[in-house]
Amino acid sequence: MSNFFAQLEAGFEASADQLALILSGQNDWTYAALLQQINRAAAQLVAFGVNPGDRVLVQVPKSPENLALYLACLKLGLVYVPLNTGYTAAELDYFVSDAEPVLYVGKQQRSDVVSATLQPRDAQRLLVFSNGEGSEIDAVVSPTVTRSTDDLAAILYTSGTTGRSKGAMLSHGNLASNAHALSKEWGWQPSDVLLNALPIFHVHGLFIASHCALLNATPMIFLEKFDAGDVMARLPDATVMMGVPTFYTRLLDQSELTPASVAHMRVFICGSAPLTEQTFSEWEQRTGHRILERYGMSETIINTSNPLQGERVAGTVGFALPGQQVRVASEDGVVVPAGEVGMIEVAGPNVFQGYWRMPEKTAEEVRPDGFFITGDLGVQAADGRLSIVGRSKDLVISGGYNVYPKEVEVVLDEMPQVAESAVIGVPHPDFGEAVVAVVVPAGDEVTQADVDAALGDQLARFKQPKRVLNVAELPRNTMGKVQKNLLRDQHGDLFAS
Ligand code: AMP
Repeated sequence: MSNFFAQLEAGFEASADQLALILSGQNDWTYAALLQQINRAAAQLVAFGVNPGDRVLVQVPKSPENLALYLACLKLGLVYVPLNTGYTAAELDYFVSDAEPVLYVGKQQRSDVVSATLQPRDAQRLLVFSNGEGSEIDAVVSPTVTRSTDDLAAILYTSGTTGRSKGAMLSHGNLASNAHALSKEWGWQPSDVLLNALPIFHVHGLFIASHCALLNATPMIFLEKFDAGDVMARLPDATVMMGVPTFYTRLLDQSELTPASVAHMRVFICGSAPLTEQTFSEWEQRTGHRILERYGMSETIINTSNPLQGERVAGTVGFALPGQQVRVASEDGVVVPAGEVGMIEVAGPNVFQGYWRMPEKTAEEVRPDGFFITGDLGVQAADGRLSIVGRSKDLVISGGYNVYPKEVEVVLDEMPQVAESAVIGVPHPDFGEAVVAVVVPAGDEVTQADVDAALGDQLARFKQPKRVLNVAELPRNTMGKVQKNLLRDQHGDLFAS
């Protein structure tokens, strides 16, 4: 049986008395309790008349019931489509028309807005119900639906910094293969307790983190959101934490973060956005732990990881997971020599089934030999270790020369006057694009002269910022990614004559 849930369910049943979810402000759940809630949610779904392959669009806060709802969808062979809780009704409209769900599960307080938006178009096929309340249906346990490896389990809409958001289709086989690979790669142990403060509408919190705990039927400290104080208070009970770089920088501001406070931790794992070398080394100095950085995305879950045993190198994302392949190639797909920048391409059982109802997009991004063109630029060392230098669309081409923003950001971040930076390209009448540094000052305003002095003998002239802009903070999305598209929009006419 290739339904990924069948594998999870076997573990839940064998570990029924084991703690599954360690919660705040309510009783913890055992695996038996989780299974019971999954069956309850499945009964509710069945009552709505859903069929395998139907999409269920879900826009809900993080809660144990809503984790159970996801697992119930897997169990019934439904296609789970989680949405960022921050999306507006207008954005939701697009996802509804694109995914054509049979069911929308939304927050109570938004249901009016949502149904008002949807009803005129498709009132018959869309039901809005509030998960949680009224869920006291006595569960008639539905059987776990048979699925094949390629059958869809989920569609994850990519954050879509340009154009329409694309639905990445992930199969049961994609989820299962990656969950097994990660729990092996990261040496999951029966005694592990995962701290999960990530959102569960995204690949990181829902698949990467949760699947490691669920597949091994080990406990997960399930925090509704990231709060540095709460996380510090919960860390003593955890052995593994997975987070985005912002989690780590915020925890570094906590005075209680000492080697003693994290002595029991097995590993700190980080991804979804670049971890700076500065954060990596500050974390090591403060805690004695070297953060394990890994690289993934909605379309492929995890591609590469720094090793659990062996050297974790700051500024790199490690090696392809066993059973997967990574290469760095030119635009026409020719592999470039080690040490040269190119497009990162990946292959393996983790690679998605394509973009939902966008076969042309899929064809553009998947090579005939099955390698997916990630859109990230990287460099691979001779031993296969990968480093990311940026998104291809963030590449700046100034006076005909390629400037990789990361290379400039690394030098800027080393300046004592700079807390953090983002380098963008904006239209320039003479150079085509000009390199612009957006910086968050550590203290006083960072001047052009400061930057010129610090970068002058470190970077070629064409890479040096032509303008330095000071901001209080960089715009980031919920996963900690700097939204360079917003910065480009905002400063697009900086050099307009
Ligand atoms: P998403 O589909 O929202 O998970 O975004 C995936 C993108 O996040 C990747 O294509 C990368 O650009 C970025 N990303 C993920 N992990 C890392 C990492 N460790 N370092 C740098 N960028 C990362």
